[in-house]
Amino acid sequence: MSQSDMKSIAVIGSGLIGRSWAMVFASGGYSVKIYDNQPGQAVNAIAEIRKQLQELEEAHMLRGELSAAQQLALLSSYDDLAQALEGAFFVQECVFEELKVKQSIFQDIERLVGKEVILSSSTSCLVPSSVFSTVHNKSRCLVSHPVNPPYYVKLVELVPHPETAATVMDTTHAVMTKVGQVPVCLRREIDGFALNRVQAAIIAESWRLVQDGVISVKDIDLVMSEGLGMRYAFIGPMETMHLNAPEGLEDYMKRYGDGIARVLTSFGPVPDFKGEGAKRINHEMCELIPSDQEHLLARKERRDQLLMGLAKLKKDHSNTSRNQTLEHQ
Ligand code: NAD
Repeated sequence: MSQSDMKSIAVIGSGLIGRSWAMVFASGGYSVKIYDNQPGQAVNAIAEIRKQLQELEEAHMLRGELSAAQQLALLSSYDDLAQALEGAFFVQECVFEELKVKQSIFQDIERLVGKEVILSSSTSCLVPSSVFSTVHNKSRCLVSHPVNPPYYVKLVELVPHPETAATVMDTTHAVMTKVGQVPVCLRREIDGFALNRVQAAIIAESWRLVQDGVISVKDIDLVMSEGLGMRYAFIGPMETMHLNAPEGLEDYMKRYGDGIARVLTSFGPVPDFKGEGAKRINHEMCELIPSDQEHLLARKERRDQLLMGLAKLKKDHSNTSRNQTLEHQ
């Protein structure tokens, strides 16, 4: 496929994630065709995006080189699947997280697009071999799993089907990089991909520590937000270890490997997240943040504001690093 054929992306499903993808792709200059099977939903999505783009522009947080008006002009909405797919070289599916719904929409999409078109799913929890089981040509299929909210959290996990062609992974990696996301490639599919597996490990041990009365809900959250999270916004666990011993990772494992293995063997069984223990944890959480809509919405807004600030800090930080590298060349 030549570069001139790679201008238009179809976003299928215009809920929370579909709208975010549309904004991300438009920020990279792609023309984005949004389809939703609920009549009027795709039009509403564009109205919502218009509002968000204006707010982002005012806050100097708009992504990409184009103005809000230019990005908006790249978006169009469709209640007809075939029209939305016409001319698209890449399809990002964002429908409900239900296997049957995804299998059915991909069957419909495959009937309507050419052989070269890349079929990408936003699924959080379904492996590609399930999502694409109804597609004949699986070599052009993959999962591109975003993190909410994708506009500020740029990671996207690219997960291949066992038959996915290497060129499809490469093209998707290039598209995601062009729009400013940070793609990572899994070499094979696995339940939970990478991000949710790591997240599950953190949730499980946090849960056990609270359930066993070792620490409060409030304090375990501080362990992450004021402790581990401070580093992890910039460097991952591998680099953290590499930097935390005088001679790097090997030295770190010589010093601390046995201790880590000992702690790991004391981690108790997988929690069931149910019953009296779960009720107690929920009660403790709700005393900090009541679970009514008013409180939850206020905290979600605060979370997004904080993420916006962090995204800006990371952007400034990477610009500074780039300039320093150029100065040393
Ligand atoms: P959502 O419920 O907000 O939106 C889904 C949209 O898909 C709705 O507008 C619905 O009308 C539309 N839809 C449903 N069936 C359709 C069909 N057959 N054809 C066309 N449109 C259809 O859901 P969401 O939160 O945007 O999630 C979408 C996908 O993204 C899911 O697979 C989810 O797992 C994944 N995801 C979500 C998050 C998150 O935090 N919300 C994060 C990463 C990935």
